[in-house]
Amino acid sequence: LAKQNGHNHFQFYVASIDQEIRERKQMERDLGNALINHEFYLVYQPQINLETKRVIGAEALLRWNHPEHGLIPPDDFIPVAEGNGAIVEIGQWVLDQACWQAARWAGEGSPLRIAVNLSAVQLRQESIVDDILDTLKRHNIPAGRLELEVTETSFMTNLTDAVAKLHRLHRAGISIAVDDFGTGYSSLTYLKKMPVQHLKIDKQFIRDLLVNEEDTRIANTIIDLGKSLNLTVVAEGVETAEQEYYLSQRGCKLAQGYFFSKPLLPRDFEIFVQTFHARIVENDA
Ligand code: C2E
Ligand code: MG
Ligand code: MG
Ligand code: MG
Repeated sequence: LAKQNGHNHFQFYVASIDQEIRERKQMERDLGNALINHEFYLVYQPQINLETKRVIGAEALLRWNHPEHGLIPPDDFIPVAEGNGAIVEIGQWVLDQACWQAARWAGEGSPLRIAVNLSAVQLRQESIVDDILDTLKRHNIPAGRLELEVTETSFMTNLTDAVAKLHRLHRAGISIAVDDFGTGYSSLTYLKKMPVQHLKIDKQFIRDLLVNEEDTRIANTIIDLGKSLNLTVVAEGVETAEQEYYLSQRGCKLAQGYFFSKPLLPRDFEIFVQTFHARIVENDA
């Protein structure tokens, strides 16, 4: 293809791959310093119970404020951190920070459930279960307050090992959610073997909900699957009142998305919860 487009394009093509490799190497080095330099922070996106319209928890999402490039989206740096193993240490920092925040909120009288994304690379670590349980203990967080979000790919590399670890976490009281459900190698065998309690409908199916008939059917199917397997379904990426209304009528129990709120810094999250709940009391009155 490059040759067809002539010599210059071929050169450009090679140069850009070379540049891509250099940029990746640079990012790996920068990631190595990011923890020590305090360049990471967490934002929290509220999860809403569509029946009660109450905030039941938050998903913790990682942000990297790079000293030169500014905010780098997790979709850009998480794969790099997974590639060189840096995600193990970064993921532990995320867990620590999220548990610290949960303990703080609990101390202020709002015990919320915190959902943390767990990379497949972390799940493969020998000590991961002990690390997670130790972290909960250190922050005095009941295990029921923590939810771990894993993707279907996490189950694929070593199914037996993943099943055993998730069972240990589940027995300890931690809940497990399948993130981005429907986008990976969804298999009903995984769902049967895994101690999973939550299915998160990927935002790609929610985006065109009610506009695209196929997406609507897929969302319906996931909601029905959740009902028949007794799993709580969470819709992610809810952006409009129409989507919210449809999902709640259709029996989807939980939702998160810009319609309610984008991911927020802790202080803004606290304000959101107060005003959101105050609004409901007003509407009920
Ligand atoms: P995810 O876990 O599926 O998180 C949902 C993503 O959707 C987040 O993107 C969130 O900001 C975004 N989102 C939420 N509501 C809406 C909406 O209404 N519309 C749209 N368009 N987007 C919405 P974010 O924060 O950029 O994170 C992207 C991905 O990076 C996450 O997807 C997750 O896979 C990964 N990630 C983020 N933080 C961590 C972490 O601490 N550890 C690991 N391993 N992965 C993380
Ligand atoms: Mg997630
Ligand atoms: Mg997701
Ligand atoms: Mg995702």
